[in-house]
Amino acid sequence: MTSHTEQPAITVLGLGPMGRALAGAFLDAGLRTTVWNRTPGRDRELVERGAVSAPSPEEAVTASRLTVICVVNYDAVDAIARRGAVTDALKGRTVVNLTADTPDRARDTAAWAAEHGIGYLDGAIMTPTTTIGTPAGVFLHSGPEELYLRHRPVLDALGGTHTHLGEDIGRAAAYDIALLDIFWTAMAGYAHALAVARAEGVTAQELAPFAKGIGTILPPLFEQAAEEVDNGVFSGEVNPITSAASSMAHIVHTSEAHGIDAGVMRAAEGLARRAIGRGHSRDGFLRVTELLNPR
Ligand code: NDP
Repeated sequence: MTSHTEQPAITVLGLGPMGRALAGAFLDAGLRTTVWNRTPGRDRELVERGAVSAPSPEEAVTASRLTVICVVNYDAVDAIARRGAVTDALKGRTVVNLTADTPDRARDTAAWAAEHGIGYLDGAIMTPTTTIGTPAGVFLHSGPEELYLRHRPVLDALGGTHTHLGEDIGRAAAYDIALLDIFWTAMAGYAHALAVARAEGVTAQELAPFAKGIGTILPPLFEQAAEEVDNGVFSGEVNPITSAASSMAHIVHTSEAHGIDAGVMRAAEGLARRAIGRGHSRDGFLRVTELLNPR
């Protein structure tokens, strides 16, 4: 399955929604694209568009110098790649692992790759499948810079912005975890807000325009707070933590009056109250960062 043309080649292992989007973008960019997925049949549409369907992962990786893996987690990566035949086939080639997992798993996979003479870059995709191949995609990468620069032209076929975060292989996963922390805490808050609103006779669609307004308040706050947190300053001049705790208590009371679990907000209020108890009542809510992880 060796390419006899000068056409750049790429292999994609894993054809869930994201893997299919990645392979589709590579095809659209004119790359010779070889695909494999554990469950057969997920490549039907890609093959119709010109992808080569490999019968096994070892044959798939042999087709290209560069393999992108994008599966559910690193247990799945291990099940595919950390087996004799596939590991042997990867020797001397490069893997870009765009699967999401923890920084520790990224480091462990990099150690395995180094042991077997496999070039390894770890990455994270921060945007949904619909952004792949468009300017809206956001990709984070970490690992050896020379390897990243060498393969960057192929990665550019995915569109969007690519950021190399440094040689520490765990860095892309660290950003991913922190950013998903924001995302899932916000989504948990939104789900909870919709439940409380419904209990008060407000539909999700009635609330949504105002919910979007809350969303637009956050970006400037993120930037301002980042500078303060890095400098160990937690200004509460505009919105002191005492006010935040009071507002959180109202949410807890309203939720629980309707029999709605308020565990997430109780935890947040508890952190605010602890900070106040330690004498930080004039600080802003971001003082809790210091409680969670004292510098
Ligand atoms: P999933 O996270 O559901 O992953 C599905 C893929 O994982 C399929 O190819 C599936 O194969 C494979 N897989 C699962 N278990 C195994 C296993 N034990 N052995 C081999 N393959 C396995 O779907 P996505 O494609 O959406 O996500 C892939 C990655 O991309 C994830 O890490 C996700 O966090 C990340 N991502 C996804 C985004 C999205 O919008 N979808 C956005 C940003 C990141 P099979 O078909 O055989 O089950």
